[in-house]
Order: sequence, then C-alpha cells, then structure tokens
Amino acid sequence: MKTIGMLGGMSWESTMSYYKLVNEGVKASLGGLHSAKVCMYSVDFDEIEKLQHSDRWQETADILSSAARFVEAGGADFLVICTNTMHKVAPEIEAAISIPVLHIADATAQRLLADRVDRVGLLGTRFTMEQDFYKGRLTEKFGIDVLVPDDRQRDMIHEVIYAELCLGKISEDSRRQYLEAIDALHGRGAEAVILGCTEIGLLVEQRHTSVPLYDTASIHAEEAARMAIS
Ligand code: GLU
Repeated sequence: MKTIGMLGGMSWESTMSYYKLVNEGVKASLGGLHSAKVCMYSVDFDEIEKLQHSDRWQETADILSSAARFVEAGGADFLVICTNTMHKVAPEIEAAISIPVLHIADATAQRLLADRVDRVGLLGTRFTMEQDFYKGRLTEKFGIDVLVPDDRQRDMIHEVIYAELCLGKISEDSRRQYLEAIDALHGRGAEAVILGCTEIGLLVEQRHTSVPLYDTASIHAEEAARMAIS
C-alpha cells in the first residue's frame, strides 16, 4: 500500500473528514483491520488565513512548500492538499517536491465527466469562485462550463466558510442560504453543483437537495484511498 501524504489544517474541521474518509476507503477495499498509511502535516490555519486575506500568497506557498517537503521526507508516495483554495499555490508546492500532487480539481472533473456532467455551479471561497486557478482548470483542461453565484451570494458563502464552517459552527440559516444559492445555479442551467470548499459538506448534504452535489473533500479523499491501494 502507498502512503498518502496530506497537507491539513485548512481547516482542521475538514481534515478530520479526509482522515476518516481515506481510512474508510482503504477498509472498504481491503477489509478487516486495514487502514490508510498517512503522513500528515497540519498547519496553523490562522497564519494561512491572514496571509490569504492580505494577498500574500507567496508566503503561503513558502509555508506549504516547506510542509510538503516534510511530508515527502516522512515517506509519502503522493500528496493531497486538503483544501480547494490553497490549490492556488499548487504549482509552487509541486515544484518543491518530487512526489506527485493529486489535484482536487482534476479528481472532481474526472468524476463529473464520468457522470457526463459538463455544466456545473461552483461554491467555494471567493478566491476559488472568482480566480482562474480552479475554474480555469475545469474549463481549459476538461471542457467543463462553470457558473458561480452572484456577487451578494458569493459574499455570503465566503463569510460562512471562514466565520462558521472553519470554526465548526453549523447554522440552519446558513444552510438555507446555501440551498438558495444552489437552486439559483440550477435555475441558470447548472446540471450539478460542486461543493468546492472542503468544509461545505459539513453544512449541505445530498439529502438536503435534489440538485446533484459533488463534494470535493469526499471525492478527493476517495481518490486518494483508491490511489493508495492501486
Ligand atoms: N477548506 C477551504 C477550501 O477548500 C477553505 C479554507 C482555505 O482557505 O483553505 O477552499
């Protein structure tokens, strides 16, 4: 079995989901007492969040590149960056190590294309919804059309991620607002919606809506488990 390398802590609320899911994935395939081999570096998210919001991305890249080197030195065979947003600096992290990075947008796009979905809505942080490192990759590399919520809803979604979900707070009112945003995207022609932030699955689940949801944390972790045993 390969060792899964993880960059976690962004936030730790979602890293817990990853840890559970990779272990469940390995157990489902190998059975019995089998569990995932994991080498994880979990950062202090306060530091990362402050740098993100002051547009100091190179410093986040430096922190995560150094963490990734520790993970590689710890014996990881490949790296999973347990956040969509920080894939903004995936190229820098990739350049700092010699093991491959399992890109979260690629894992998600492959799942969408397998289901013949090529027009999706995207929920995530403002960085993920508005910048090209994520949307652009889905469109240019995989031919997937990406719709994002309007400005007011993007604000609400971003705020709920940092002020609630990353702090482990689940609110009924936020769930209702997220479901409205999902419905609006569906109304504009999105066949499905990507939960493009690894904490959103803690708030909105498939049982809350008839619009097909693609939870990036689950997809990414399932793919990591699959790679580990392949
Ligand atoms: N976990 C989130 C994501 O998937 C947001 C936290 C972060 O900024 O890394 O984008």
